[in-house]
Amino acid sequence: MTGVVDVVVVGLGPGDTVVRPDYGPVAARIRAEATDNWDDQVAVDRFVAKGGLFVRGEARITGPRQVSAAGETLVARRGVVLATGTAPAVPPVPGLAGSPYWTNRDAVEAKEPPASLIVLGGGAIGVELAQVFARFGTEVTIVEAADRLLPLEEPEAGSLLAEVLAADGVTVHTGLGASTVGHDGARFTVALNGCALSAERLLVATGRRADLAGLGLDVLGVDTSAASVSTDDAMQVTDGLWAVGDITGRGAFTHMAMYQSAIAVAAILGERPTPAAYHAVPRVTFADPEIGSVGLTEQQARDQGLRLRVGTAQLPSSARGWIHQDRQRRLRQARRGCRAGGAGGRDQRRPSRRRGAGRARPGRACGDPDRHPTDHDLRLPDVPPGDRGRADRDGLTCGHVRDGRLPPHVLTPPAVHRRGGGDDHSVRAAPTR
Ligand SMILES: Cc1cc2nc3c(=O)[nH]c(=O)nc-3n(C[C@H](O)[C@H](O)[C@H](O)COP(=O)(O)OP(=O)(O)OC[C@H]3O[C@@H](n4cnc5c(N)ncnc54)[C@H](O)[C@@H]3O)c2cc1C
Repeated sequence: MTGVVDVVVVGLGPGDTVVRPDYGPVAARIRAEATDNWDDQVAVDRFVAKGGLFVRGEARITGPRQVSAAGETLVARRGVVLATGTAPAVPPVPGLAGSPYWTNRDAVEAKEPPASLIVLGGGAIGVELAQVFARFGTEVTIVEAADRLLPLEEPEAGSLLAEVLAADGVTVHTGLGASTVGHDGARFTVALNGCALSAERLLVATGRRADLAGLGLDVLGVDTSAASVSTDDAMQVTDGLWAVGDITGRGAFTHMAMYQSAIAVAAILGERPTPAAYHAVPRVTFADPEIGSVGLTEQQARDQGLRLRVGTAQLPSSARGWIHQDRQRRLRQARRGCRAGGAGGRDQRRPSRRRGAGRARPGRACGDPDRHPTDHDLRLPDVPPGDRGRADRDGLTCGHVRDGRLPPHVLTPPAVHRRGGGDDHSVRAAPTR
C-alpha cells in the first residue's frame, strides 16, 4: 500500500519512535482546509448573507463618509471603518527590491520547503516561520538587527528562543543588518558587515506597515506620513471615520482587531462603549515553546517610572513542566550545542541534512563565536538593575538571563523530577556574579 501521510512513526523498541517530517501533506492541508486555496468566497458569502454589500477592489477615501472602489462610489450615512491592516515592510537594502524574496504569504504558500532559507527579521513572524522550515529540513539562518530575537519581548524570551532554534539547527545572527542583497537567478546572497550568507530563498520579515497615503486619507486631513492611524478611545479617527485592527498600531493581533471592532460598532450605533484600553494586551509568539506575554515588559515599566516587583517561576517545576519532560531534555541539549557551537551558535551535534544556507564564506565567518554571553543575573523584587549582582552574592538562586543566556533552572528540571541519573549537572551553570 502506498500513501501520503503527515508523519511516519516507526517503533524501534519500547519507548522509541522516529518522526520523519514531510512538508507536502502539511502544505496541502493548509491550502485546502485553512485557506480554501486562497479563496475567500465562504467569508464573502457569510457577510452577504447577513445583509452586507461586498465590493471587491482597492478602496480609497474620496471625501467625508465617501469611498471609491472598483469604479463605484459608496457614500455612508453613518461612517467609514478602516480595517485595511498592514503589509510587509521591505527595508531599503540595496538589491532587495526587485529580487524574488518571500514575504510571509509566499512562505505559507510554498508547496515544498526550500533547501535553504535566510530570514531577515527575528520578530514573531520571522522566528515562527524559521522554526517551521527548520523542522521540515530547511537549513535556516536568521538575521536580526537588534541584539536579540523577539526584541519587543523580555530578554529571556529571545535567549530561550535562540537556544531552542540552535537545537533545531537554525543559525542566528543578532546585532547585524543586511547591507546588500543579490540574486543570481538561483540563489540569494546577503552581505552582512563584511561577510556573506547564501541561500536558495530569502524571507523578509522585518515588520509591517500601513499605507495611509494609498488610502487617500489626506483628503480628511489625516497625517499620512505616520506609521499608523490615531484614534480616540472609541476608535474614531475623525468625524465619520473609525479605524480598527493593525492600522491603528496598537498591537498587530487578531484579538486586538476584534476588541476594537466591538468598540467601534458600539460607537457607530450611538452607544457609549467602554473606552479602549491597552495596558494589558496579551500576545503569543507561536514558536515551540510558545512565548506568551501580557502587558508591559519589565523595561517598558521601568521606562515609565513605575515601581515594580518582578517575580519568576520556572516552568520545569510546575506540573506542566514535568509533563513536558522531553522538551526540557531538548533544551538541555540545545544548551550543550551552543557551548560547543561555532559562529552563530549552531548546534554542532546535529548534522544538517541540507548544506549551504547561511554558510559564511570561507575565512569570512559571520558573527562572533563568543557572542553567546555567559553571565547570569538575578531578578529580584524592586532590585534596581545595577544591584542585582549584590543579590546574587547574598545567595539567592532565582536567576534570570541577561544578554542571551538561558537560565540554569530552565535547563535543569528540579531534582524531584529527575529520573535515571542523567547528566543534568553538566549543564547547570553556577551563578557567576
Ligand atoms: C504571518 C502572520 C502571523 C500572524 N499570527 C498571529 C497570531 O498568531 N495571533 C494573532 O493574534 N495575530 C497574528 N497575526 C496578526 C493578525 O493577522 C492581524 O492582527 C489581523 O489580521 C489584523 O486584522 P485587520 O483587519 O487589521 O487586517 P488584515 O487581517 O490584514 O485585513 C486587512 C484586509 O484589508 C485589505 N485591504 C488593504 N488595503 C485595502 C484597500 N485599500 N482597499 C480594500 N481592501 C484593502 C487587505 O487585502 C486585507 O484583506 C499574524 C499576522 C501575520 C502576517
